[in-house]
Amino acid sequence: MPKTTTPPRGARKESFRKAKGMHDILADEYLLKENFIEKAKKIASFYEFQPIQTPILEKVELFTTSIGETTDIIEKEMYNLKTKGREQLVLRPEGTAAVVRAYIENGMQSLPQPVMLHYHGPFFRYERSQKGRTREFQQFGLEILGETDAIADAVIIKTTQAILEEAGKIKNLTLKINSVGDKECRETYQRELINYYKKNSTKLCKNCVRRLKTNPMRLLDCKEEGCQEIKENAPQIMNFLCTGCSNHFKDVLETLDASEVSYYLDHTLVRGLDYYSRTAFEFIDEDTGLVVCGGGRYDPLSKILSGKEVSGVGAAIGIDRVLEKNKKKQSVKTTTKRGKPAKVFFIQLGVGARYKSLAVLEKLRKSKIPTKHSLSKSSLKGQLKLASKLKIPYTLILGQKEALEDSIIVRNMKTTSQETIKIEKLIDHLKKKIK
Ligand code: ATP
Ligand code: MG
Repeated sequence: MPKTTTPPRGARKESFRKAKGMHDILADEYLLKENFIEKAKKIASFYEFQPIQTPILEKVELFTTSIGETTDIIEKEMYNLKTKGREQLVLRPEGTAAVVRAYIENGMQSLPQPVMLHYHGPFFRYERSQKGRTREFQQFGLEILGETDAIADAVIIKTTQAILEEAGKIKNLTLKINSVGDKECRETYQRELINYYKKNSTKLCKNCVRRLKTNPMRLLDCKEEGCQEIKENAPQIMNFLCTGCSNHFKDVLETLDASEVSYYLDHTLVRGLDYYSRTAFEFIDEDTGLVVCGGGRYDPLSKILSGKEVSGVGAAIGIDRVLEKNKKKQSVKTTTKRGKPAKVFFIQLGVGARYKSLAVLEKLRKSKIPTKHSLSKSSLKGQLKLASKLKIPYTLILGQKEALEDSIIVRNMKTTSQETIKIEKLIDHLKKKIK
């Protein structure tokens, strides 16, 4: 028999708590999230995006070769694990690399192009937890593969905007956009950027001093107060774009104008992953101040991963950040799980009634009568009070006597009048009343 050891005092309690930055999603939040995803899927499928689901565990190389060795994700945010078969796997930190892998691996190149995909699910990054930043978070993502034209960038942006405004109910949404050029034009720009930052190196934060050596584009992503002025006055990539990149950016902006999408040009906007080229954008919820979506074009990614040239553009919405504003508003819901306002409140009292209650509830469910019920043993008075607080028009009361007689009391909550009905006649009776 394996030996068991008693954990030290306090340790048992600690191990019973969820891991730092992870989530238990409870009823209200869960329903909000599901509702958001359902609406987002409808909008995405209107724009012809098809669903895809990739694994939560991927080989570590998928991300180390694509995201960039000196990015935050690879340097410090990945959850690594070694399997018994000595495979090095990671909990996925983002969705795009996996979608591109799946596109190549499943031969989607032979389908009519472009291939447009949407996905959602949990992602994991070992970050410092704070408002809008947790270690496990949910994303809804969109990708268009196999299309270089600016129309693809605009479709991604337009669809994302519709999802954030309609499914996410964001009222004050801002789009910031920039072009990060391609490998060639970025090289000249980076040299200029390095020269400029070197002149200011004594005023920089510790991370920026490091970025200056390892990943100069990330200097523009610094959020430290002391580095903001230097960042604002940095050389602008717009002045360094090659003709191809510059024309592409112009096309994107013109298509957005024609699609009535307004935007701000932000020359300091860069993405946190190295595989981006040309278009980079972010959506901000001005009411919470959170960046709720990041996206851009990633033409070099497929070549890095598979040697095959496939252009791509996409966006990832941070669902938790979109729903952040709802956190404070959680209240007792009068809606049922299907989201319809409840028409009846079912109360059962006593052991005999409890035996019969499931059969009655099942009749109500099959007849699609929106019902709320409580299996609590609290008094009739307490339960009636709750039904009245929830403003549900009818209460059904199944007591010991009624259970014996196969009947049930129907109480009109407004008039407080009551009738006793045979259970077999209950559904017809309720349908007439509810109508
Ligand atoms: P940030 O600069 O805030 O770290 P990012 O550039 O790392 O963001 P992306 O990789 O572009 O983020 O991810 C897309 C979106 O996913 C973000 O705009 C954000 O809404 C959400 N997101 C990213 N990381 C987290 C996290 N740790 N917790 C909650 N949401 C997140
Ligand atoms: Mg990040």
